[in-house]
Amino acid sequence: MSDQGQMAWSTPEPVHSDERTRGFDPVTVFVATVPPRSLSALLPWVSVLSVGDNGLERPLGALQHLKRVRPANGMQQVILAPVAESTLSELELLLARSGIDTHGDSGATIDQVAVSRWAPATRAQFDDWKERWPMSFRLAAAERSDALSDAEVAAAQRFMQLALDAAEDAAAAGDEPVGAVMADPKSGVVVARASDLRRTHHPLMHATMACIEAVASAERARRAREAASQADEQPNAGEKRGRHDNDQDDGQDEVAEPDEGEGRADLGGYLCSGLDLYVTREPCAMCAMALVHSRIRRVFYGERSDEGALGSAHKLHVHPSLNHHYLVFRDLRRQLQP
Ligand SMILES: [Zn+2]
Repeated sequence: MSDQGQMAWSTPEPVHSDERTRGFDPVTVFVATVPPRSLSALLPWVSVLSVGDNGLERPLGALQHLKRVRPANGMQQVILAPVAESTLSELELLLARSGIDTHGDSGATIDQVAVSRWAPATRAQFDDWKERWPMSFRLAAAERSDALSDAEVAAAQRFMQLALDAAEDAAAAGDEPVGAVMADPKSGVVVARASDLRRTHHPLMHATMACIEAVASAERARRAREAASQADEQPNAGEKRGRHDNDQDDGQDEVAEPDEGEGRADLGGYLCSGLDLYVTREPCAMCAMALVHSRIRRVFYGERSDEGALGSAHKLHVHPSLNHHYLVFRDLRRQLQP
């Protein structure tokens, strides 16, 4: 720590899904421009179109984020169907059936307009893409929770320093220089701390796996204590199981200790619910999947890795096929100041 004066923490950066970082991706749709008085004649069959009648299958099926109608220079514009799923002559025929002549002097036309293929996932995308065509937007919970308070950043730095210490221990032991810490953000308590063991103990014991194992081990011990104290409540429960040293009282009225932290109360099968992981290097795919299975809340990591699964090679934490997603922040590291 002698060099602490020259070292400064970098700001952790959230690792977003591609859905949140992509730019405007156009899909071309047929749009009818009609006089306002014709809109009421048009809308009934537009709504019929959208349930798949008239030989057209759900024309806006994948474009539900778009508003169907927008005003334009005293006229009304209505999305009819994606160009890929319809033809101009077909749509002209359907408009004619509604009494709208696209070749007459009513001003009615059918044009092609490029609209956003995707629903916006961020406010910035919404502000950009709605200029092409109006759309609806609901701020995702993930976007709200992305912002770290000063207190959260300070806590993150404190926990990452512990992980860096664990990485130093690993290096001193001749192992991969990676360290990990599991912490409860509500209580600020460090639940587990682990150094990488892949070289000295087992090839799969990466620091993250070792940390999850340490949480599991502590949980097994807690359940054993709980089972033991429950057994003690029954006078004739037979042999007494090994009880933990800090439990001195042998009284019959002893009850199982309630779980203190709210986030930890519903552990069930989900080992790391409500917990944050701090690891000095970006987790690999194995570790990232283990974090999915254990229901981690957030992951902070320091150095990026070419094979890393949380932003570099993959983004497993936001993979759409996985049933649990977690927040990831990267580049939380101490660097020499220039
Ligand atoms: Zn790993």
